[in-house]
Amino acid sequence: MNLTGMVYRPPYEANSLLLQVTLGCSHNKCTFCYMYPNVKFTICPMEQIEADIEEAAQVCPDVERVFLEHGDAFVLSADKLTQIAEAIHRKLPKVKTIAMYASIQNIKHKTDAELRRLCDLGIGGLDIGVESGLDAALAYMNKGHTAAEAREQLLRLTKAGIPYSFNAILGCGGADLWRENADATAELINAVQPHLLFIGSLHAQPGCKLYGDMKTGAFKECTTGQLLDEQERLISRLELKDTIYFGSHPSNLVPMQAILPKHKDEMLRIVRETRKGLQGRLDEYPLRGGEGSIINR
Ligand code: SF4
Repeated sequence: MNLTGMVYRPPYEANSLLLQVTLGCSHNKCTFCYMYPNVKFTICPMEQIEADIEEAAQVCPDVERVFLEHGDAFVLSADKLTQIAEAIHRKLPKVKTIAMYASIQNIKHKTDAELRRLCDLGIGGLDIGVESGLDAALAYMNKGHTAAEAREQLLRLTKAGIPYSFNAILGCGGADLWRENADATAELINAVQPHLLFIGSLHAQPGCKLYGDMKTGAFKECTTGQLLDEQERLISRLELKDTIYFGSHPSNLVPMQAILPKHKDEMLRIVRETRKGLQGRLDEYPLRGGEGSIINR
């Protein structure tokens, strides 16, 4: 089976079969993104996808979860996704879930009936880069959606029965808007009640617009103290019924996994303890390595 170009997947898809159905990302314009530079978005032909599924059936016939590559595979039409899902179920009968990255715009372009049909075919576990609930941050990050659109489309997914991960980025509003970013993002998360909340922290690598803007000062990065304050403020404002908080991404100053609301007090205690331990360094910027990993924790 061939996987072309850089392959990304969420950490919880480590045991999933990665099946390429597109190359690159149909949007490819997010200010902070360095995933697919110079990759022309392409939809893989059905013959190639079927050949890969056939090969997977020989190599891992018992696989239960498939993750469709690349950057926003949910951009495919409901008909193409139906064809792919049916081909998977024909050859890999133990597959229960077909997951993939998705954008808010990808959902908008499908009808309610199509979403229900995709749900019935096992399509779920959509990994959605919502990033923020603050329109100013979303506009600067060039996400292609507003907070109101995100709310509407995520509620449509829930109504159709499709589970998803809400991905949010601490620091998206920069040093000037960290409070607003925390408040608006918490408000959006509370409104849609995701099953899974994936938290990362803003970082930039050469090749994306954000990197240049940070260098010139056009975008003011959050300090260590501001990132911790934003995380505390976000968590304290979350009013969730039953959500997994997946915050182990190495870009986070306080990596943690928890269940909300059960662990809320403990999470806040850990953030406050971390801040105490970093006294004297709160006005500095976190030192980051590859994929934004914190190297001076
Ligand atoms: S939608 Fe995802 S893959 Fe595409 S440009 Fe934005 S962050 Fe990158």
